[in-house]
Amino acid sequence: MKIAILSRDPALYSSVRLMEAAKARGHDARIFDPTHCYMNITSMKPSIHYMGEDLLGYDAVIPRIGASITFYGTAVLRQFEVMGVYTLNKSAAISRSRDKMASSQLLARKGIDLPITAFAHNPDNIEDLIAEVGGAPLVIKLVEGSQGIGVVLAETHNAAHSVIQAFMGLNANIMVQEFVQEAAGSDIRCFVIGDKVVAAMKRQGREGEFRSNLHRGGTATLIRLAPAERAAAVQAAKIMGLDVCGVDLLRSKRGPLVMEVNSSPGLEGIEKTSGKDIAGLMIEYIEKNAGKAKSA
Ligand code: ADP
Ligand code: GLU
Repeated sequence: MKIAILSRDPALYSSVRLMEAAKARGHDARIFDPTHCYMNITSMKPSIHYMGEDLLGYDAVIPRIGASITFYGTAVLRQFEVMGVYTLNKSAAISRSRDKMASSQLLARKGIDLPITAFAHNPDNIEDLIAEVGGAPLVIKLVEGSQGIGVVLAETHNAAHSVIQAFMGLNANIMVQEFVQEAAGSDIRCFVIGDKVVAAMKRQGREGEFRSNLHRGGTATLIRLAPAERAAAVQAAKIMGLDVCGVDLLRSKRGPLVMEVNSSPGLEGIEKTSGKDIAGLMIEYIEKNAGKAKSA
């Protein structure tokens, strides 16, 4: 098969591994920076160009579109879809996953357990907002944040009030969430491909840190998932319509709570922790689903 990987950085661990895995399985793979692709959107002959080259004959596209380029990156991916090319994660599903409010609303509507969460922009009654999610301690998040930046634990009512007020002053969209204390500074990343969790790891924040992000100094270890955790991850992926995703769960007293569904989950942490060839499993999934596998 001819596989295009959309990634801004060919040197990233995930890009390198996907290239290796595609080649190891006899495919012809190339990396394109989606921000450098330009497109003719005519109905007669839609096309995508890259440095003067017409990108033709691709059997599959692997999108690795970062949050900062979601809008243009998904437009490029959509153009491949218009041209009839198989894409591992559809553009519409990626766009949806990047909207935390829309994703939470969709998951909640379909019966997925989430932490108790309120969204707000300019709440006139902060007391009511705090009461709505059960009072302090609370976690307050910027809807647009990532890698744990803009995620604050307010341990007291007064702290919660001040932080919400401060975020409001930024004219930001915020999430106010129950603090899942039992998670004890850890979360669970489930790497889902198709309808299976292919690997899972527990991420634990440094001592005294409630955020478990690896970028914030957290560490990852292999874990065995409980059946309810596996089921929640697979169901969340299905509702979001994602072929490949990272579903982040918090282990709570009332069972697994889905915190986030990441449509471009990193491969480094999960491959190194699990020892599994996740990139290879992604390529294998494409072979089964792109429907036009040609042996090289
Ligand atoms: P980001 O998307 O920026 O990584 P998250 O919402 O995933 O932000 O939060 C970062 C980390 O903080 C999570 O991985 C988790 O360890 C911790 N965390 C987030 N929300 C809660 C919560 N409601 N209760 C307990 N811990 C939380
Ligand atoms: N970007 C990583 C991922 O989505 C997150 C790593 C972290 O937890 O900091 O897999």
